[in-house]
Amino acid sequence: MTAPENRTPQCRFCTAPLTRTFANLGAMPLANSYLASIEDADQEQPYPLHARVCDSCRLVQVENAVPPDAIFSDYAYFSSFASSWVEHARAYTEMARQRFDLSAQSQVVEIASNDGYLLKHFVAADIPVLGIEPAANVAAVAEAAGVPTRVAFFGRELADQLRREDICADLLVGNNVLAHVPDLNDFVAGLEFLLKDDGVLTMEFPHLLRLIEEVQFDTIYHEHFSYFSLLTVEQVFARHGLRLFDVEELPTHGGSLRIFACRTESSRQSNGNGLAGVRDKESRAGFDGDDIYAGFQDRVGVVRDGFRAFLAGARKDGKRLAAYGAAAKGNTLLNFCGIGADDLPYVVDISPHKQNHYLPGSHIPIRPVEVLREDRPDYVLILPWNLRQEIIADHGYIRDWGGRFVVAVPQIEIEP
Ligand SMILES: [Zn+2]
Repeated sequence: MTAPENRTPQCRFCTAPLTRTFANLGAMPLANSYLASIEDADQEQPYPLHARVCDSCRLVQVENAVPPDAIFSDYAYFSSFASSWVEHARAYTEMARQRFDLSAQSQVVEIASNDGYLLKHFVAADIPVLGIEPAANVAAVAEAAGVPTRVAFFGRELADQLRREDICADLLVGNNVLAHVPDLNDFVAGLEFLLKDDGVLTMEFPHLLRLIEEVQFDTIYHEHFSYFSLLTVEQVFARHGLRLFDVEELPTHGGSLRIFACRTESSRQSNGNGLAGVRDKESRAGFDGDDIYAGFQDRVGVVRDGFRAFLAGARKDGKRLAAYGAAAKGNTLLNFCGIGADDLPYVVDISPHKQNHYLPGSHIPIRPVEVLREDRPDYVLILPWNLRQEIIADHGYIRDWGGRFVVAVPQIEIEP
């Protein structure tokens, strides 16, 4: 799977050679490969993390240099642990039921359905569902909650299999999965194949516009192969017979798009305003030119320098530090900036699946959230900055001892 050193990689959508760097973050272990014991650090495998942009279709992408079983063998993420995300999913299901007239005669299919956090709302409304989830341990949680779930990777082959079983979708949902797909063309072809003639597809993914504007380079990691603009996703879908008829901008994951698509030949009317608005924003930002992509690496370096300077200053002043949230994006930040347990002695996390493990690369220990009250750190660095408001609201007690929350991206910001 690993590419020879001197081969020019190709765009995973249009196969044009990828010659332009977007962000080269060096070599680091997989962001989700938490270590059960510090002795496992010897076996840790670093892989290059180098995002490039295609000069032809403008897809920003990380080369698939990692064996897939390394990525999914011990997947530790459970959607239901983030309460704001659970509410986001509930509100989506309400909207979709009304807007698309879903009933007991409809079929909803969700790809990467995780622990059933979203589909369970359709189940409660007696709308038939099928979840597709590659991680068997996560799928088992969904099944136990009454959400029928198939343990599989989605692609053209699975779509074929489902059609043979007479399953096709009135509503096909995929949230935060498109970016994780190594074979993009096979995946989108499968979407088109599984959709009923008048079916609707919605997908949410982090918006490249926000990633660039807010220097969210820490959302780049090996498991996250593609970074989409509307400009690019419309080309990808069009090639596979799908047409976007609406788009919404969402605050989730640092700023996402929710796209609405149907078959190209569907009579469904387009909400021209939504699409035109986002197309215009991207065009004004220069998304069809080279410069906006080429200038990103330097901006990443500025964030790193600011973060290191903050840590050095805090240490000089004798301040005590901790981090909150053993999130994937935190690992990119810490490993790119060369931060270890000497700089940041521990991170707390709400998930029992991560506690008593170590972060990959930085080897910072993960401890239960209660440790904050015992240790009373001066600064608590929030790694999953997309959950910043929620974390500050839930853990305001750190102010009782003068503790303050800090975020490092897009620049150091210390909460008052
Ligand atoms: Zn391309």
